[in-house]
Amino acid sequence: MVDSNFRKLINKAHNLIFPPRCAGCSDLMPLNSTDAFCPKCREKWEMHKRETCRRCGQPVSECWCGIPFDKDRCITNEYHLVQYDKKADTIIKRLIYKMKSSRRNLLYYTVAQEMYTELFPRIEYTDLILTYVPRSKANITKYGHDHALRLTLSLSELSGIEIAHMLSHSGNSNQKKLNVLQRQQNAQKSYNIIKGAKNLINGKNVILIDDVMTTGSTVTRCAKLLKLRGARRVLVFTVAKTI
Ligand SMILES: [Zn+2]
Ligand SMILES: [Zn+2]
Repeated sequence: MVDSNFRKLINKAHNLIFPPRCAGCSDLMPLNSTDAFCPKCREKWEMHKRETCRRCGQPVSECWCGIPFDKDRCITNEYHLVQYDKKADTIIKRLIYKMKSSRRNLLYYTVAQEMYTELFPRIEYTDLILTYVPRSKANITKYGHDHALRLTLSLSELSGIEIAHMLSHSGNSNQKKLNVLQRQQNAQKSYNIIKGAKNLINGKNVILIDDVMTTGSTVTRCAKLLKLRGARRVLVFTVAKTI
């Protein structure tokens, strides 16, 4: 209790020094905001959720484009909130960037709330456990946090589902300039299962959380590792998929 009161106090002080800004347009927001988006950006975000995929014409929430090389079928299903073009300057791109660089609680709470209300009802399995694609040590040092872990913590708080810390990340995380094949090779050597973590996921339906899915190399590699260690199914949750 003391801890949570202390945390609230710290947050309050932080908000006073650094007033919250909208995750989409960076405008100043009221101190008591309960949404990471301002009303205008919230409207845009809701519109993005209702778009259709440019490739397959399906509603973006139901599109299955983008993980063509999951040849071992390690991923049972893949769920995301929105799709975006990396070259376009949208509020989605800015939200993702903010998640990587900002430690503001409201940001994670908003995204976790979205995942909880939009993605969870679509899952037809029980025996769920949460895990996440870990950030590289170099990026944790650079940005001061692991954004996928923070998102997973918020989602665990909302859903009451436990987190299993299963995966480790070693090596170079900068995949931006790599092509599909290079990304696959990079993911292959960068991610591993944490030793001794096997019995946490044995027979469970694992929800694997990440911020963005670009080529699917990372989630496919992680899903394969989880399946090899006994996960019954791997369900991938991301905020956005790139097109
Ligand atoms: Zn805004
Ligand atoms: Zn599609």
